Amino acid sequence: MEAIQVFQRAVDDPGGYLKTIKAERKIIGYCCTYTPEEIIFAAGAHPVRLFGTKGKIHRADAHLQAYSCSLVRGVLEDALAGNLESLDGMVFPHTCDSIQRLSDIWRLNIASTWHNDVVLPVKLNTESAQEYLLDVLKKFRRELEAWSGAPLDDAALHEAIVTYNRLRALLKRVYELKSVSPGIISGRAVNAMIKGAMIMDRRAAIGHLEGLVRTLETATGQTPRREAKRTILAGSICNHPEIYDIVENAGADVVWDELCTGSRFFEGPIDEDGDPLAAIARRYMNRMNCPAKHKDLRSRGETLVRMAQDHAAGGVIFLNFKFCEPHAFDYPYLKEMLQARGVPSLLLEIDQELPASGQLATRIEAFIETM
Ligand code: SF4
Repeated sequence: MEAIQVFQRAVDDPGGYLKTIKAERKIIGYCCTYTPEEIIFAAGAHPVRLFGTKGKIHRADAHLQAYSCSLVRGVLEDALAGNLESLDGMVFPHTCDSIQRLSDIWRLNIASTWHNDVVLPVKLNTESAQEYLLDVLKKFRRELEAWSGAPLDDAALHEAIVTYNRLRALLKRVYELKSVSPGIISGRAVNAMIKGAMIMDRRAAIGHLEGLVRTLETATGQTPRREAKRTILAGSICNHPEIYDIVENAGADVVWDELCTGSRFFEGPIDEDGDPLAAIARRYMNRMNCPAKHKDLRSRGETLVRMAQDHAAGGVIFLNFKFCEPHAFDYPYLKEMLQARGVPSLLLEIDQELPASGQLATRIEAFIETM
């Protein structure tokens, strides 16, 4: 699909894409959806999500144990290999232990970049956490101002919020259209779209998404109904678009997801009225959480059950990074909650490289047959 190519090119060669931005703006990297990128955007810098190396990991082994998740190891590998030289800064929200330790290793070894820790609360369900979170965001704003040497006013924050709301609404619209007519766009294309939108200039991404949504809205009424089974992906990020192909070849469609490269990025519009930082804080408090943050003992499970019901999904495929403890600890209760509502699930532990494609396809096909 032509409209996807621009996103795919950014995903295939993020370094090349960032060169086009570098001349105009500072570039700040991050590797977690809890990064308040609206504030970075408002400060006139370009936030870019890092997804880890596409090559072999060996330099990072000198700093991180092989039993750390491949996302964190892969991002460090890219930095040590000099592949992230376009970055002027790096922001680390405090989420899982691996990201927190990556922050320390980065500070000691990747000296050329501005470095910032955003020490978020772990619990996201109390009034005091919301107050604390607001203070953290205020501090982040001050530190960005000091670094950039320019004041960051509320008008710029408001404009950033409006831009991000538009971007997220368009991404969600593509998901909604695919949920209604899964055949109008492949899962692989959706994966490229969402990752590309986290790399590209956000206003440029909005322009391309508006075109894509128009194309898909036209196609929705014209595409023959597909009687495939419906599934949801859950987990952290999906760096393996082949998984979408395998699911589709096995006779199913991914009709929604609970991924950081997915709905965790676009869910939750930010209030456009009132104090902008308080509105950004509220989004984090109210948005579906990841397992590195706590709301209550069942909130992630309830989100998944609701997603399965809303999108008539017959099963959930968990894409958990090998060695990711937060996701591993959540899995048993999520599986149980889904099972109790009649939704089967499959756990795939993924790493830098996927298991042999035949082996993976067999597991996915067998699961889809049972759905
Ligand atoms: S995959 Fe797990 S361990 Fe790795 S960064 Fe994400 S939450 Fe942390």
